[in-house]
Amino acid sequence: MEYIKEVDKVKEGYKLKEKIRKEAIKLGANIVGFADVKSWEEFENTSESYYPQNIWPWSKSVIVLGVQIYLPMLETTPSVVYSELYDTTNRMLDEMSYRLANYLNRLGHKAFFFPRDCYGDISVLVKKPEAAFSHVLAGKYAGLGTIGYNHTLITKEYGPRVRLVSVITDAELPPDEVIEKDLCIKCLCCKNSCPTSAFTTKEDALIADMDKVKCAEYHEKLRNNYTYPCGVCIKVCPIGEDKKLYGTSSVSKEGIIHCQSHGAKEQFGSGGVEALSLEVRV
Ligand code: SF4
Ligand code: SF4
Repeated sequence: MEYIKEVDKVKEGYKLKEKIRKEAIKLGANIVGFADVKSWEEFENTSESYYPQNIWPWSKSVIVLGVQIYLPMLETTPSVVYSELYDTTNRMLDEMSYRLANYLNRLGHKAFFFPRDCYGDISVLVKKPEAAFSHVLAGKYAGLGTIGYNHTLITKEYGPRVRLVSVITDAELPPDEVIEKDLCIKCLCCKNSCPTSAFTTKEDALIADMDKVKCAEYHEKLRNNYTYPCGVCIKVCPIGEDKKLYGTSSVSKEGIIHCQSHGAKEQFGSGGVEALSLEVRV
């Protein structure tokens, strides 16, 4: 009898998970994954104070939603075109996660979303470049991808060109399988293109040492120029189906200069964007 009850509970969990997945896709998510909060304990990638279950003791599952970053816009970085896209993805993530948590509430479950960035201003990250919650780790535990050399979540669909948000709930949902084989091929394109040389290779590990302060300082300059964020290390990554769709260079050199010549405080040709990015990134 107990066994039958357990089987029914698992079946219900799968049904609920598929309902939630459909809803998330209807709301605009490109990718959706499910993690068990126990993964934080199992993998021990972060200290205990960052475990969702230690912050919200009733939490059982984390639903991670991702939206793609369109390559033809990203390839114009640093530009207002990419900056606007970044803001749009943020709005999408806020809305989708808010609405999905509401959907779970209507089904009788506790739920809320952990905001996608959660810092007051980029200047704060210069002093303390750490987030209260890592959506990248959540994405890994939810089977959406693996963590690459450049500290981003590398997905099959979009490489590192995804923005993520997490919905935390007391619903017990069967987790998706974690991807075991690294998707990052350690090609070092991200390291070699970084305008601040923020990455240092570790011989015995895939994930690089990253000077997050250097990266944040550069982002402060970009923010002041209205061309935030940088995105070069995700632009150049060769992994992802989107690279197959758009090709390795989806914008002409002239097109990049054109986009960098409009909308920002310092524009291409006035020394601004060139000085900020150290070179025109084509
Ligand atoms: S976002 Fe830009 S500055 Fe920061 S690590 Fe990536 S390439 Fe370097
Ligand atoms: S650019 Fe190369 S090294 Fe960097 S994350 Fe992508 S695959 Fe890994």
